[in-house]
Amino acid sequence: METRNIAIIAHVDHGKTTLTDALMRQTGMVAEGAGSMDSNALEQERGITIYAKNGSIYYKDTKINIVDTPGHADFGSEVERVLRSIDDVVLVVDAQEGPMPQTRFVLKKSLELGLKPIVVLNKIDKPAARPEEVSEMVYELFLDLGATDAQLDFPVVYAVGRDGVAMRALGDERVNLDPLLDTILERIEPAGHETDKPLRAQPFNLGYDNFVGRLAVARVYEGTLKVNDTLYIKNSAGKCDQGRVAKLFTFRGMERVEATSVEAGDIVMIAGLPTVEIGDTLSVTSDQENLPAIAIDEPTISLNFIVNDSPFAGREGKFVTNKQIRERLTKELEINVGLRIDFGDATYKVYGRGELHVAILLENMRREGYEFQVGKPKVILK
Ligand code: GDP
Repeated sequence: METRNIAIIAHVDHGKTTLTDALMRQTGMVAEGAGSMDSNALEQERGITIYAKNGSIYYKDTKINIVDTPGHADFGSEVERVLRSIDDVVLVVDAQEGPMPQTRFVLKKSLELGLKPIVVLNKIDKPAARPEEVSEMVYELFLDLGATDAQLDFPVVYAVGRDGVAMRALGDERVNLDPLLDTILERIEPAGHETDKPLRAQPFNLGYDNFVGRLAVARVYEGTLKVNDTLYIKNSAGKCDQGRVAKLFTFRGMERVEATSVEAGDIVMIAGLPTVEIGDTLSVTSDQENLPAIAIDEPTISLNFIVNDSPFAGREGKFVTNKQIRERLTKELEINVGLRIDFGDATYKVYGRGELHVAILLENMRREGYEFQVGKPKVILK
């Protein structure tokens, strides 16, 4: 089966989640009213933690993997490594608001990597929508960001994601999302399917499962990856570990499906490699050349997490002790790429890539019932 690997990119609230859910529903991947790509509850129940969600849909004998990517500049390297691991992007822009800062940010990264975006002008049902004008604004933005002629020749699809409809022209009948799906099949190259070569795969995201430990989300570039394979795990700094593949999963809809082998072109989640990192090259033979490395941004701010040992501790949270907070932060390090922590006795110095990066961690921990104090963020001067 042919595979297309894409990311849907957008400024927050321009309708990425709604559109993705509609794609899942129309292709029969989720029942009407079932959970969305945004929901974390099921994952947490199973003890699996991962930030970026992946999904896939099947359309006209093609598997389309949809890889999630954050839009904010604090997650610059996340965005970049996801965009490097897929073949093209669908840029969703609100047809009333027009391009916004995150539109610019994700589009810039995409163009720099040579991708040829498909543009979706979404929410054309809004009374104040101005799709023609916004189309011009998007064109200007492409120009401004130095798009090549081929990139400037982008197709535009109009959509009402909420109603699950897309149209190639504004006046077209609003039926379903086929016009968008067909544009994806026409414009995006099938993923390379070189199964006759020896295996080469590269992780672009990490997750954690309470039962099987570290998970790596990887693209298989060449060859076939099989359960029980003993892999070399190499990087450009000279690391050369080995590990045995315990389990493999691919994606169907929002579900993870266990697999015994995964072929070149597809995206896979691998369990059993405790030392695997983003950007490593995975191979079965040791003499395979490394895939180009993936850079991870350095931290830009630091702040102290201070364990609350006052007599009032425990009023706001259920997890307050030094040990509980240390364990939670240690687990975070497994999946939160770019985060670093110096563990002191009762003060943990957390380094992150921006205020938002650390704020999300704080918010998640508070919601989970952790209680602690934090110091003022300090900018790391280079
Ligand atoms: P995301 O942040 O890009 O994932 O955006 P969401 O999919 O969460 O959508 C943001 C808001 O826009 C929600 O309130 C949606 O109900 C609304 N929305 C999404 N698609 C449409 C649409 O096609 N038309 C209108 N009018 N609203 C939409």
